[in-house]
Amino acid sequence: MSTTPVRVRFAPSPTGPLHMGGVRTALYNYLFAKKHNGTFLIRIEDTDQTRFVPGAQEYIMDALAWCGIMPTEGPGLGGDFGPYVQSARKEMYRPYAEQLVAEDKAYYAFDSAEDLDRMRDQAKNMGMPNWQYNSVTRGSMRNSLTLPQSEVEQLLAANEPYVIRMKMPRNQDVRFHDLIRGWVVVNTNNLDDKVLFKSDGMPTYHLANIVDDHTMAISHVIRGEEWLPSAPLHILLYQAFGWECPEFAHLPLLLRPDGNGKLSKRDGDRLGFPVFPTNWTTAEGELYSGYRENGYLPAAFINMLALLGWNPGTTQEIFTLEELVDAFSLERVSKAGAKFDPNKTKWFQQQYLRALTDEQIAQTLISQNNLNVDPSRLAIICGLMKERATFAQDILQEGAYLLAEPSTFDAETIRKKWKPETTAFMQEWKQILTDLADFSAASIESAFKAFLEAKQVGIGAVLLPYRLTLTGVGAGPGMFDVTAFLGKAEVIKRMDQGMNAIEQILNETSN
Ligand code: GLU
Repeated sequence: MSTTPVRVRFAPSPTGPLHMGGVRTALYNYLFAKKHNGTFLIRIEDTDQTRFVPGAQEYIMDALAWCGIMPTEGPGLGGDFGPYVQSARKEMYRPYAEQLVAEDKAYYAFDSAEDLDRMRDQAKNMGMPNWQYNSVTRGSMRNSLTLPQSEVEQLLAANEPYVIRMKMPRNQDVRFHDLIRGWVVVNTNNLDDKVLFKSDGMPTYHLANIVDDHTMAISHVIRGEEWLPSAPLHILLYQAFGWECPEFAHLPLLLRPDGNGKLSKRDGDRLGFPVFPTNWTTAEGELYSGYRENGYLPAAFINMLALLGWNPGTTQEIFTLEELVDAFSLERVSKAGAKFDPNKTKWFQQQYLRALTDEQIAQTLISQNNLNVDPSRLAIICGLMKERATFAQDILQEGAYLLAEPSTFDAETIRKKWKPETTAFMQEWKQILTDLADFSAASIESAFKAFLEAKQVGIGAVLLPYRLTLTGVGAGPGMFDVTAFLGKAEVIKRMDQGMNAIEQILNETSN
């Protein structure tokens, strides 16, 4: 690798919230920068004013902060290469476009929107549906290459609207090496004369992107595959300016879980998983749900995203951000689209939840839910429940009976599992518990085993009914732990109440 400092950028357009594919692009830029002791910056590409969405920039910054992959240069962050929002750099682009015109590498085009529509219609009528403004057609259009110079000067002086178009060279192979895709060759006959500078005084994405990547000293352009078709034009622009090209790496698409097509913003809520890092509400009030609000831990989200298109070459799946930085390389990013797997995403979330201490989970639950509970009691509940939970919130829902006595009982399981002799077993077991001096889980367990032994019954005949009596449901964490946690007084009280409730259910059934 060259010795120029690594500087990479994430360059979103503020046209809406950041799709998870965009977060992955930011993440790979972040990892690459950190790995090479470089700089990761963010640049807001808002040259298309018609697609500007208020709040989108703030959303993007907030989402990156939540993910823990903040750039070190960008709007509001400072840096020596600002401003980092293209509309604030507006004045600097025109001279570059004019320079290309002066050097005969670009030209003024005065064609009106109607002129262009007419050309397209004519071409369509002649069986050519994809008319382009290019090296062939430019000769019959109204531009500074076809009009006499005096007329061009007149039009400019009269403030006639114009755009500046790239004068695409004819029949030239543009070759460049993509760090993920290898050599890419495109013939310029397949490229049109893209607009570089618009009649509203703003550069297009292409010009602004090149000028900024150059003036911000970007060493590597790491971006989505959808920009690969634009890369030859970008290479030609670097050459036209006589600037050194950055390295390019075009990342694979994120595909739907069934592998059919690109993961779109509508897929998520339709198929039951978030596509955005955090919630986004459109101006029309439509909500797109986010990973954050769905209870995902940012580290789980990031770990999952890192492996969507990159692999470490080992079987390791769980990575801290630091480990990702260490292991990451563009060489191990695949060319093929990466299928998003919502179940695997939940698996990552489970792993990260389990890795938290019981106290950490308890604190999160308390602050998220404004709970008024003893943190150390809640921590024990978290310890009992976390293996069965995907999200912290599941602990409160599925373990509600650990905080308060159950208000409902699973009638179906009761009808199936409660035998005529069960009530007598429960009464005896309750007596044993009442008499038990040491109410630790271990002591409860040995008392229970001795009881089974004495009665000569299997564990299933007593343990499930006991669980139903105490918790109302047929599954949950170890009953000896639950018993010890609730304490003797609560257990005895619940057994009485539970047996009454169960009796009622059984009576209702038999009536
Ligand atoms: N503004 C482009 C986007 O919205 C950035 C493309 C690039 O990284 O060059 O994705």
